[in-house]
Amino acid sequence: MRLEESILRTVGKDRSRLPTPEFPIHSFVYMTTQKNSHEGLRPVQISRLEEISPAVFLISFHRSGPFKPGQVIRIAASPDDPPRIYSICSGNREAEITVLFNVKPDGKLTPRLSRMKAGEEIYVSEPYGSFACDGYPVWWIATGTGLAPFYSTLQSGVEGKVRLVHGVSHLNQFYFEHELETALGEEYIRCCSRDTIPGKPYFQGRVTDYLQSLPDLPKADKYYLCGQSSMVVEVRDLLIQKGVPYHQIFAEIFF
Ligand SMILES: Cc1cc2nc3c(=O)[nH]c(=O)nc-3n(C[C@H](O)[C@H](O)[C@H](O)COP(=O)(O)OP(=O)(O)OC[C@H]3O[C@@H](n4cnc5c(N)ncnc54)[C@H](O)[C@@H]3O)c2cc1C
Repeated sequence: MRLEESILRTVGKDRSRLPTPEFPIHSFVYMTTQKNSHEGLRPVQISRLEEISPAVFLISFHRSGPFKPGQVIRIAASPDDPPRIYSICSGNREAEITVLFNVKPDGKLTPRLSRMKAGEEIYVSEPYGSFACDGYPVWWIATGTGLAPFYSTLQSGVEGKVRLVHGVSHLNQFYFEHELETALGEEYIRCCSRDTIPGKPYFQGRVTDYLQSLPDLPKADKYYLCGQSSMVVEVRDLLIQKGVPYHQIFAEIFF
């Protein structure tokens, strides 16, 4: 499927809302060209596969070389299957590479991946891409598994002020909640859209509702967005409407 079609599936038919050349969606074209390539895939043994929330899994394998937080890898279940792209979720000082994925029930890879066992082989590429945090203060805005590159950055070491806004549908989807609370304290904003929230520290609503509720957004901060295209496009529009300059916004879309 062409990239534009894939995005239109999620943002609707309004082409004016597609990412534009002025909107710096980081690594966008690069990711697209690599999406289905089998080049450089090598077999690795799964060292851990764990369901950490309904239909959301962590899968790990031994790390053979360095990587930078914000990089991705391609994974295939067999050498003949089309690979899919995943953000690395683990820190770059850990012995393993870990990826966080959610199962698309009718997807080609993720249902199969979720049924595999430790010791079985998957096929992975070397890490690539550059969705790296290169300045502070920074806002990390993610929905669902879009948390992965930010969690990897946090685990690898951050050097400035970070605010994380994580949006999910249900309370049991706040993966790594304890670790994030410990690391970020009040700068960890949890937005829950569907469950009735038990009160603070949760925000009732979507990440866009949270951002909309703020009287002002710092114009000099950097804003990194990661998740489904509909969220990325909506948040991009909102940030711009609130006066954040284009060049302060970076995004990675999970399409
Ligand atoms: C840069 C990048 C980073 C990513 N990182 C992550 C990550 O960290 N974690 C994560 O969970 N995901 C991530 N993704 C998404 C991931 O690459 C896969 O797309 C996702 O896991 C689904 O793979 P799948 O093979 O199971 O599903 P697919 O087979 O790709 O299907 C996905 C959905 O699209 C539908 N679909 C497929 N083909 C068509 C068609 N022709 N017409 C209409 N509908 C169709 C399917 O029914 C299904 O609902 C990332 C994507 C990108 C581009």
